[in-house]
Amino acid sequence: MKINSAEFIISNSVVSKCPQEPLPEYAFIGRSNVGKSSLINMLTNHKNLAKTSGRPGKTQLINHFKINQNWFLVDLPGYGYARVSKSTKATFQKFITDYFEKRTQLVCAFVLIDVRLEAQKIDLEFINYLGENGIPFCLVFTKMDKITRVKAESNVAAYRKKLLAENWEEMPPYFITSSETKVGREELLTYIESINET
Ligand code: GDP
Repeated sequence: MKINSAEFIISNSVVSKCPQEPLPEYAFIGRSNVGKSSLINMLTNHKNLAKTSGRPGKTQLINHFKINQNWFLVDLPGYGYARVSKSTKATFQKFITDYFEKRTQLVCAFVLIDVRLEAQKIDLEFINYLGENGIPFCLVFTKMDKITRVKAESNVAAYRKKLLAENWEEMPPYFITSSETKVGREELLTYIESINET
C-alpha cells in the first residue's frame, strides 16, 4: 500500500469520544518503549506523526490518525496492569479494555513485541486477554535490526512455542519489523490493504 496521506485527527481518554466516522480501524499497542511510535512513523513515512517516548508518565491517550482518507491507524498507550485488581487475573487499564470491547470499527490489533526479549508475562497476558475476548490481532516483532535474522527467527519460534504452551492452537499472523531499516513495512501495509479490500 502506498501511503498518500496520514493526518492526526484527535486524542481521547475515553472511547465514546473517538471518531464516529465508520472507517476500518487498526490499533497498535505494546509495552512502553517497544518501538510503537517509531513503527507508526516508519509505516506512515513521517518523522514525527507519533511522538516517540522517552518521557515516562506521558498522558495516556487514544490517538487517531486517518490514513489515505480511508482507514484509521490508532496509537494506543503502553499497557500496564490496572492497580484495582486484587485477584491474580490480569486487569489492564480500563480505557484500554473499554477500547477493545466497545470499538466496533476495530478490524485488527497489532501487538508489538521486542524481538530480542523472551516472552514477557504482561504481553502473554494481554495476548490471552485478546484471545478470550475474540479480538483479532497480529504480532509485530520490533527492532529486528538489533539482532541477526537467524536469531530473530529463532526468537519468534520460541515465542510460538510459548503460545502453544499457553493453549493457543496456532501462532497468530506475525511480522518481523525494524523501524531503522524498514524491514516488514511492505508486508504489514499489504496485510492491512488486503483486509480493507475484502
Ligand atoms: P514507544 O514507547 O513504544 O513508542 O517506543 P519508541 O518508538 O519511542 O522507541 C523506544 C526506543 O527504541 C527509542 O530510543 C527508539 O529509537 C528505539 N527504537 C524503536 N524502534 C527501533 C528499531 O526498529 N530499531 C532500533 N535500533 N531502535 C528502535
